[in-house]
Amino acid sequence: MTFVVSQEAQAVRDAVRTFVARVAEPAAAEMERTNAIPDSVLRAGADVGLFGLGIPEEYGGAGTDLLTTVVALEALCEGPNAVSMVMGPSAPAAALVMAGTDEQRQKYLPSLAAGEVIASFALTESEAGSDAAAIRTRAVERDGQFVISGSKIYIGRASLAGLFLVSAVTDPGRGAAGISVFLVESSDRVGIGSPDLQMGLRGSGGAEVHFDDVVVPASAMLGQRGAGFDVLKLTLHRARLWAAARSIGASKAALDLSLSHVAQRKQFGQPLGDFQAVRMRLADMATDLAAARLLVYHAAEVLTQGGDGGQEVSMAKLFATEAAGRITDHAVQLHGGMGVSSEYPVERFARDVRAYRILDGASDIQRLVISSGLRKWGMGKGMVPGARATR
Ligand SMILES: Cc1cc2nc3c(=O)[nH]c(=O)nc-3n(C[C@H](O)[C@H](O)[C@H](O)COP(=O)(O)OP(=O)(O)OC[C@H]3O[C@@H](n4cnc5c(N)ncnc54)[C@H](O)[C@@H]3O)c2cc1C
Repeated sequence: MTFVVSQEAQAVRDAVRTFVARVAEPAAAEMERTNAIPDSVLRAGADVGLFGLGIPEEYGGAGTDLLTTVVALEALCEGPNAVSMVMGPSAPAAALVMAGTDEQRQKYLPSLAAGEVIASFALTESEAGSDAAAIRTRAVERDGQFVISGSKIYIGRASLAGLFLVSAVTDPGRGAAGISVFLVESSDRVGIGSPDLQMGLRGSGGAEVHFDDVVVPASAMLGQRGAGFDVLKLTLHRARLWAAARSIGASKAALDLSLSHVAQRKQFGQPLGDFQAVRMRLADMATDLAAARLLVYHAAEVLTQGGDGGQEVSMAKLFATEAAGRITDHAVQLHGGMGVSSEYPVERFARDVRAYRILDGASDIQRLVISSGLRKWGMGKGMVPGARATR
C-alpha cells in the first residue's frame, strides 16, 4: 500500500515546518516555564491558517482534506506539541462540519477557522472518563430552552476557549441514548479553572470547566436529541486520528534528533552511530515510525472514502501513540545526560507524547474497540461486554 502525499499537502507541510522552526520551537522554553502559549504564537499560527485545518473553504477554513490535515499535524508536532493541541484541527470544529446544521456552521466555523474563537470538547467528568456514558452533566428542557449544569475535567484549550461542545444528559435512565451535545458559548455562568499543570503539553490550556445553570436555546443542540453518542463517535474518530498524527510527528522529530546526535557524539574513539547496538535501536525506531505512519494514513484514507473507520482509527491510535512512547524513550537513552536535560528538546517530546496514550480513549479502550470489531468477523464472541459504551 502506497500513499501519495499530494503537492498541496507537501506545500502545507513546508509552511507548517517553517512556522515550527521560526515561531513555535523558539517559544517552547517560555511555554514550559509559564504553562501558557504566547499571544505572538497564536497570532502567527492564525496567519499560517493552522486554525482552519480541516474546515471547508466555504466557511473560511483551509479546505484541507483529511490526509493533508494529518500531514500538517505531523509537521506541527515536530515542535512543542502543545501548539498542536491549541491550533491544530479541533474536535468541536470537526463535529460542526460533520453534524452541524448550515446555520450552526455559518455561525461558528468562520471565527474558529480564523482563530478568533477557540473551541473545546467538553466530555470528561470526574466519574466519567473511559466510561463516557456515565456523565452526569444535565441539560434540562425548560420553556423550549435547555439549562445545562455540571462539571468537566481535563478539557483541552479550555483556558482559551470561547465555545464548548458539551455532552450532557437530556434523558436520564437511557444511558448513552440519553446523551445530547450542545454548543455552549462562554459567559459568566461558565467557570473555567486554572490551567492544569501536566507532565507534558505545557501551554495546551487544559482545565476544569463548570456549567452553572447555563441557558441555551434548543438550536444549540448539535445533532438530534439522544443521538449525542453518534456525534461523539464521529468526532472521536477524528480526534483519535489527530492523536495518532501528533504521535508520528513527535516520533519523527525524536528520530531526527537521535540520528544527528549519534553522528556527532563520539565515545570510545568513534561516533555512537558506529556501534551496532546503537544502529539496532535506530532501526527499531525507524520501523516503528514507518509502521505507525502507514496505519495513520490508511485510517485517514478509510475515513476519506466514507467508511466507518473505527477499527482502523483505533489501530492507528493504539500503535502510533505506543510507538511514540518507545521511540521517544530510545531518543532519551541515545542522548545520555542530554536526553534528560530540559535544555534540549528530547525529554520534552517524551513528556508530550505520554498523554496521547490516555486522551481520546486510553490504549486499553482502543484495544476494546479493536477486539469488539473482531466479533463481526466471527472471532472472539462475547470477549468485551460493554465495549460499545466506552470510547
Ligand atoms: C492531556 C489531556 C487532554 C485531554 N483533553 C480532553 C478534552 O479536550 N476533552 C475531554 O472531554 N477530555 C479530555 N481529556 C480526558 C481524557 O479523554 C480522559 O483522561 C481519558 O478518556 C481517560 O479517562 P480517565 O482519565 O478518567 O481514566 P480512567 O477512565 O479512570 O482510566 C484509567 C485507566 O484504566 C484503564 N481502563 C479504563 N477502562 C478500562 C477498561 N474497560 N478495560 C481495560 N482498562 C481500562 C486504562 O488503562 C486507563 O488508562 C484529556 C486528557 C488528557 C490527559
